[in-house]
Amino acid sequence: MGRKYFVVGTFFGIQLRIDYSWFVIFALIAWTVITGYLPSYWKGLSAWELVVAGLAVTVIFFASVVAHEYAHSLVANRRGLRIRRITLFIFGGASELQHEPEDARTELLMTVAGPLTSLVIAGLSALLWLLARHWHITALEIVSQPVAVLNLVVGLFNLVPAYPLDGGRILRSTIWLIRKDFLSATRTATSAGLVFSYAMMATGVIEIISGYLINGLWIIIIAYFLNQSTRFSYAQALHEKILAKVRVSSLLSDRFVTVPAGISVDTFLNDFVLKYKLYDFLVTDEHGDVTGIIEFSRVSQLNNSRLRTHIDNYVQPLTKALVLKPDDLAVKAFRIMQSHNLDILPVMSGDKLLGIVIRRYLDDYLLVHKLQHQ
Ligand SMILES: [Zn+2]
Repeated sequence: MGRKYFVVGTFFGIQLRIDYSWFVIFALIAWTVITGYLPSYWKGLSAWELVVAGLAVTVIFFASVVAHEYAHSLVANRRGLRIRRITLFIFGGASELQHEPEDARTELLMTVAGPLTSLVIAGLSALLWLLARHWHITALEIVSQPVAVLNLVVGLFNLVPAYPLDGGRILRSTIWLIRKDFLSATRTATSAGLVFSYAMMATGVIEIISGYLINGLWIIIIAYFLNQSTRFSYAQALHEKILAKVRVSSLLSDRFVTVPAGISVDTFLNDFVLKYKLYDFLVTDEHGDVTGIIEFSRVSQLNNSRLRTHIDNYVQPLTKALVLKPDDLAVKAFRIMQSHNLDILPVMSGDKLLGIVIRRYLDDYLLVHKLQHQ
């Protein structure tokens, strides 16, 4: 699998990644600042002065976006949520939440920290700009002003109460604090998010009709992304809530077959997948202990020459983090399956294998219970 990102480094225990799609937005903002923003304020600049100043503005701006994300993540980590990664991508920055916050206060504090950071940076840049103007430090003046404006825009845009934007999360956690009902708070914040995304799409269409094609398209793309992530976030919140009420023991299945380690892919396909009409299997060592998980999807794309190789290359080794206990909440199984992209997980009591939890079954369980929330 080709990686779509590269790692910048790990700071304060949180990994900073850049998705390749980010270069698109970097180029777009640099281009806008260099050819549009700066020349309209500064008439006498040469081409290379514009480029240097524009790149400086863009780099400082994205450093501010990273600061915004770190503010979210550091507060979250202090409050016991584990955020291990921040990714810059085409729509800005994202702190990777392992799961929804457990309480309203945590969500409120960690969310407010982001836009607050952007607004503080905007304020400090504006102050620098005023000082630079006062002391006639032109280079500083040229750079600090757009940095202030861009951070102000990011701070304010994020405060729009459209879930999952920061403002929407602030709205949700506030309602959640008052009503003490996570789902109904999420539903209200989601509705606000959907209304906002449709209003944005309409704005985009008006822009296009008025002749601003690129602007309009860009607004529509962001609105569409927002709309999708609003729906996805709601579904995710709903799933977490439903699965937090049921234990693994009641979703346990004994419909599983084990595969001995070391067999060939060929044997696996014929003697297991085709024979048992199952896709996912537990792998056992010579003592019969479960050592891993093998899924059909991991070998289904192999070409002929790989059929004689051992399945071991495609086995997900069983670590402690992948083993469920019968009294674990189903939401834990759901999170592990999502983060490791697995379709089955073993349930064990000590060393004893009790059965498996199947993703398809979790999905069906959710489907049935979701009907009751509509
Ligand atoms: Zn934010």
